[in-house]
Amino acid sequence: MITVTEAKHHILKQRKHTRVEKKPLPDALGFVLAETLFAKIDTPPFDNSAMDGYAFSYALWDKKSPLKVIGEVQAGSENSLKTDANEALRIFTGAPVPPEVDTVIMQEKVERDGDKIRLLDENLKQGSNIRPKGSQTKKGDMALQKGQVLTPAGISYLAGMGFYKVKVYVKPKVSIIITGKELVKAGETLETGKIYESNGIGLTAALRQLSIEPVSVALVDDVSEAIEKAIESQLNSDIIILTGGVSVGNYDLVPAALEKCGVEKIFHKVNQKPGKPFYFGTTSKALIFALPGNPAAVMTCFYEYVVEAINTFTQKKHLKTLTLPLENDFIKKPGLTYFLKGKTTEKGVEVLDSQLSYMLNSFAVADCLITLDENKTDYKKGEIVTVLLIA
Ligand code: AMP
Ligand code: MG
Repeated sequence: MITVTEAKHHILKQRKHTRVEKKPLPDALGFVLAETLFAKIDTPPFDNSAMDGYAFSYALWDKKSPLKVIGEVQAGSENSLKTDANEALRIFTGAPVPPEVDTVIMQEKVERDGDKIRLLDENLKQGSNIRPKGSQTKKGDMALQKGQVLTPAGISYLAGMGFYKVKVYVKPKVSIIITGKELVKAGETLETGKIYESNGIGLTAALRQLSIEPVSVALVDDVSEAIEKAIESQLNSDIIILTGGVSVGNYDLVPAALEKCGVEKIFHKVNQKPGKPFYFGTTSKALIFALPGNPAAVMTCFYEYVVEAINTFTQKKHLKTLTLPLENDFIKKPGLTYFLKGKTTEKGVEVLDSQLSYMLNSFAVADCLITLDENKTDYKKGEIVTVLLIA
């Protein structure tokens, strides 16, 4: 059986080539830029007023007389008005500053009497309240670097420079196949021996947390032909996630079905708790994650492994890791990596109750998974552990 580190290494080694597409900025939130962008224009594109106020030539002003207001410049208008010494223009925020004007005084700092204004701003200097052309970015400057995640502010910034479509890394196509004869869909009657299907719903939500919509979610019986058919129909996806049927029971038919469909097994079984029977394989196109069906194992393997693979497509680290001190003691078995449901606190991280792999009650309120080392057994309060933030 391989270790968690080896398993992750195998998955990252298989990384498929990233795909790139041009996306309109309004649809590009959360995507990662696949190109470095250079400013196509100066921004601001012209000298403009930072305030509602009065624009004038500080250089020509005699520094004592009131100024005569001879016209008005609105945002969006041209800057063709001319001013002479001791003359001013009424101006508004964002309005272009005429060439001979070098200073704007805020309207709150003047006393106006008819067409005359007296300047009352002791701190006023030549250049005050003017946003010079190109003071944010000059044409040709690097605007944003390849690899940058597009945030709302980043999108607004690029739009302000006249960009519309930008190259981003495409998200992978992900298919979900849920196996299990015992499963019934929400809303159906629960007969003896049956349980509500929850993994497909949980995985769909987990993918949506990464802004990925699964291309298909199929529910199939523990019947080899049905499982094979379901796999075959999804082999053009980038990632296929299966749940259930990967263990050693008579109805654990998934590994054999995958083999029949031409999937190459990379590993089966990892030294970990939960999710020991975890299977990973590939085709020339797809990465296949077959997860043991217990709901906590499914969610854990998704966050710990599937997300790592998704990261290689999107070029984005979707979940953050931190190191934090433990808030409680914990004793574990040697020889197994543990992934524990945890909750971060102001001081560290608390290990929650109900850690068994069929239970989700603590997972439902967890905000992280704590990794406990394969080789250790005794963890003491205050010891530093690695946590993966999942919420
Ligand atoms: P398996 O990996 O198929 O042996 O399933 C392990 C456990 O997880 C069993 O108790 C199953 O009933 C349960 N299980 C499997 N698939 C699901 C699912 N989609 N939703 C809820 N429980 C499941
Ligand atoms: Mg099963």
